[in-house]
Amino acid sequence: MNSLKRLVLILGDQLDLEGAALKNFNFATDEVFMVESIHEAQYVWSHKAKIALFLSAMRHFAKQLKELNYPLAYIQSSPLSIVAALKEKIVQEQITQLICVEPGEWRLRQQIELMAKELKLHLDMREDEHFFCSHRDFMGWAEDKKELRLEYFYRLMRKTHHILVDEEGNPEGGQWNFDQDNRKPYPKKGPGIVDEPILFEPDSMTQEVIAFVKETYSKHPGSLDHFRWPVTRPQALEALDYFVEYRLRNFGVYQDAMWTNTPYGWHSILSSALNLKLLNPREVISAVLSAWKKYSLDISTVEGFIRQILGWREFVRGMYYLDMPGMAEDNYYQHQRALPNWYWSGKTNMSCMKDAIGQTLQYGYAHHIQRLMVTGNFALLAEILPSAVCDWYLAIYVDAIEWVELPNTAGMALFANGGRFTSKPYIASGAYIKRMSNYCDSCRYKPDVRFGETACPITTLYWNFLIQHRSQFESSPRTRLMTANLKRISEEDQKSIVGHAEYLLNHLDDL
Ligand SMILES: Cc1cc2nc3c(=O)[nH]c(=O)nc-3n(C[C@H](O)[C@H](O)[C@H](O)COP(=O)(O)OP(=O)(O)OC[C@H]3O[C@@H](n4cnc5c(N)ncnc54)[C@H](O)[C@@H]3O)c2cc1C
Ligand code: SF4
Repeated sequence: MNSLKRLVLILGDQLDLEGAALKNFNFATDEVFMVESIHEAQYVWSHKAKIALFLSAMRHFAKQLKELNYPLAYIQSSPLSIVAALKEKIVQEQITQLICVEPGEWRLRQQIELMAKELKLHLDMREDEHFFCSHRDFMGWAEDKKELRLEYFYRLMRKTHHILVDEEGNPEGGQWNFDQDNRKPYPKKGPGIVDEPILFEPDSMTQEVIAFVKETYSKHPGSLDHFRWPVTRPQALEALDYFVEYRLRNFGVYQDAMWTNTPYGWHSILSSALNLKLLNPREVISAVLSAWKKYSLDISTVEGFIRQILGWREFVRGMYYLDMPGMAEDNYYQHQRALPNWYWSGKTNMSCMKDAIGQTLQYGYAHHIQRLMVTGNFALLAEILPSAVCDWYLAIYVDAIEWVELPNTAGMALFANGGRFTSKPYIASGAYIKRMSNYCDSCRYKPDVRFGETACPITTLYWNFLIQHRSQFESSPRTRLMTANLKRISEEDQKSIVGHAEYLLNHLDDL
């Protein structure tokens, strides 16, 4: 028992030896505390690969701490929640001081603060240095804005951090955003040779974790057969180097493209390493900027990639903290339908959904457009209850942590917050999916048929959505054009679309 001991809590997504939690660590009086909570893997029905990734990365990090002689209390497979296990330790050992980095997840932060108050604990909760923009700075930026939009925030971040701006503060390449250049489908014959991302064979520690997850979480969704994620910082750095050297060049142009059996396309697959804090976004941006010069890369690909990290990643984190806890409850359209069962199995006749969900179950990964314009688009058009959709995304992706998952799902994909930070719902018919992929070639449905047996369900539900929300779409200049197209569809056909949509909505599990 040592009442002077300071406990340093390190969460499973805070695996950085240089992180704020370990600053000024006193090897004589301090102890690091880490806990694997079974409850964390179960409060949503997590993909086995997501559980294995967290456990393996935590155990590798703990091993490193031990090698560096950090006093460490590491609890494996605790039946308690993180905070309950922490509390037990604090009470048993009469600890009076707790140090930690602010948790990314709102719920956990509230619980730790509450516990500290209850136990009259001195809580030293430090800012997370893995982000460019603190919560305070984001709130300051948002305070006087009529509209909260990525574009203005992103420009400010570029200027503040002198990234892709010249000495006068003007954007490199003459424009802030090259999004228009970054929306191409693959060539008609397919993506051709895509340089595979670097994948890591599981070492003995990861194999042990995989065996444990297979046994303990056997009923959870997803496969562990393809588990090749980086679980240590050296691996994450290797993955970053490999990406900027071989794959960044085509990231921009094919960012939105989809193709069967091409799970990663030219994407970086760095999100899990970034979110576990095995990588710092500053070093990712710096590696991308060096590669830009070294390999004479196109500005559109470099800007497109940096916008994701310095723009979207920071922006959604800021929005999450600004709008929690309300964001988790938002349901602008009052959608109430259950998530179709095939979201958990991939067993559907819709080729696009089958492919996006199938690869998700195999790898715990799908890229942004698959998440937004395939599974997300369908969930919005099919009027699924937002919290059910959010639970699915949180469970099923290896990179899913609530601060980044929730704003993307509820805010961006489902418009559940009524357009708080997006100007319109992201909806599309089968025509978009046909343009951006080869999915429709092998589908039993036809993307351009609006109703009837062969009609693409996404197309039917898209037109139905526009008909149901016609007045909302007509009220904004950004969306008026979408309903203008409705005028080209006869009244009779519109009735057939609504009738067919009603049938589909009542038989979602059969699609
Ligand atoms: C419905 C939905 C749910 C999502 N859930 C998550 C999630 O749980 N965790 C997560 O990290 N991302 C999430 N995203 C954002 C994005 O899809 C993933 O970050 C990306 O697909 C990860 O793959 P990648 O590393 O190959 O990314 P790349 O396409 O290579 O992009 C590079 C990096 O930019 C960042 N990034 C890109 N887009 C976004 C974005 N919209 N928001 C925040 N960061 C972004 C990521 O860190 C990513 O690693 C979600 C998007 C949608 C539409
Ligand atoms: S026809 Fe419709 S359901 Fe089938 S793959 Fe194309 S968009 Fe998806």
